[in-house]
Amino acid sequence: MQQLLFAYQLGPHFDLGEPIVLLESIGRLAARPYHWQKAHLILSAIRHRAQDDNVTLVKAPSYREFLASSAASFTVVNPTSFGYRKLVDSERFTVFPSRGFVTNEDRWASWMAPKSGKGFVFEDFYRDTRRRTGLLMNDAVPIGGAFNFDHENRLPAPKKVSSLPVAPPWQPTEDDIDAGVRRDLMRWQAEGKIQLSGKDGPRLFAVTRQEALAALTHFIAERLDLFGPYEDAGLEGDWAMSHSLLSVPLNFGLLDPLEVALAAEAAYHSGNARLSSVEGFIRQVIGWRDFVWHLYWHFGEDYTGLNFLSATAELPPSWKELDSTHVQANCVSHTIAKVSDRGWLHHIERLMILGNVAMQRGFNPRELNDWFISSFVDGTPWVMPVNVIGMSQFADGGMMSTKPYAGGGAYISKMTNYCGECPYNPKVRVGENACPVTAGYWAFLDRSEAELTGNFRMAQPMAAMRKMVDRQAIREQEKLRGTAL
Ligand code: SF4
Repeated sequence: MQQLLFAYQLGPHFDLGEPIVLLESIGRLAARPYHWQKAHLILSAIRHRAQDDNVTLVKAPSYREFLASSAASFTVVNPTSFGYRKLVDSERFTVFPSRGFVTNEDRWASWMAPKSGKGFVFEDFYRDTRRRTGLLMNDAVPIGGAFNFDHENRLPAPKKVSSLPVAPPWQPTEDDIDAGVRRDLMRWQAEGKIQLSGKDGPRLFAVTRQEALAALTHFIAERLDLFGPYEDAGLEGDWAMSHSLLSVPLNFGLLDPLEVALAAEAAYHSGNARLSSVEGFIRQVIGWRDFVWHLYWHFGEDYTGLNFLSATAELPPSWKELDSTHVQANCVSHTIAKVSDRGWLHHIERLMILGNVAMQRGFNPRELNDWFISSFVDGTPWVMPVNVIGMSQFADGGMMSTKPYAGGGAYISKMTNYCGECPYNPKVRVGENACPVTAGYWAFLDRSEAELTGNFRMAQPMAAMRKMVDRQAIREQEKLRGTAL
């Protein structure tokens, strides 16, 4: 028997001990537009893994065509999307339980069972995982006396600096395989076989096990300590801040999340990183990442079609083409440019700038979800729906969060330095220099009154909106502004 390996299963913990068949499929790259650097990472990761002795690389137009051309049977680790699970749902496949996550399906099912699929809370899941793994625990007691130190992790961006005082992120050295990938992508694009967005650029993320371990070691030693305090801050001139940039190698399966969490925990015990940073990082790696993964399956394939707020606006050309030349709003302009430059943004730029603006402007959630998957180097089909459809757009009507993650320019002004260079003023909501995020927030509440009335967590802002003397003026102003910021 041979093992069929998917591109998101490239690390040693996916190896079932049999000869491996790995597919490179141009049809897969042609199925949707891809950011240049994302397509590069996928091909580079596959071709590097194919260097191993036990791996045969097969170039085929698609998985289905490859399977049609062969009568072989395969073992496979359960893949990471509905589409691939349908593919392996046949007698030709012996399917092993999924790997690459901390909580397996059985444990998730027993955690979820008493809740009847409703009323589940992330913090409970996270605590359950901490207790089970023993990470940052003294027997049954969390180290530091609390499970969560988020209140220590909310510093705004430091003033009068263009970047955080932290070592730059680890960066790989490209090799001949990368050069070949770049040549192929250029040729396929010129021949019209694939559609690429954003800019080409030096490879910034790990694509081999060895690189992934180097990136992990560097982050833990040099950058983890400052991760927590500035986790929610942003600086126009600092794309990476103190984030780990490990989502790509984690999602390729090159690192196991438990080994990543254990490395972070060791940094706390050796005095190399403060508890609030280590706890915040571990919460992402063993908590949120797993939570989102299990909810992808729990909510089902139709989840991406939910549209509670009836948002139907098309994404503007600046987003689709990743060209922010004519975008005036400084926060939006720079974050779109950063997506074009690298296919990556940190959490607060994704959620509180782009996600927030998208919800305010009523972008269609399914289209937005597809855009995030296409444009972000770590945007897998399983990771985006809960984050985009649920957390960011409230398109599920509250299955994931109790209220929409909407905010005005004041939050962006507090946590980042984008507003200083902006022609708009975050405190102004009507007039020539009215901030589109601030005015957009009130216009969003106004437009969504029917859907959000009755949501007790929105009662206060809705009451404030109803009392505003300029409600009508904001409505007209933002209608005229549309999606062009
Ligand atoms: Fe963004 Fe408004 Fe600040 Fe400009 S003023 S950067 S549009 S939040």
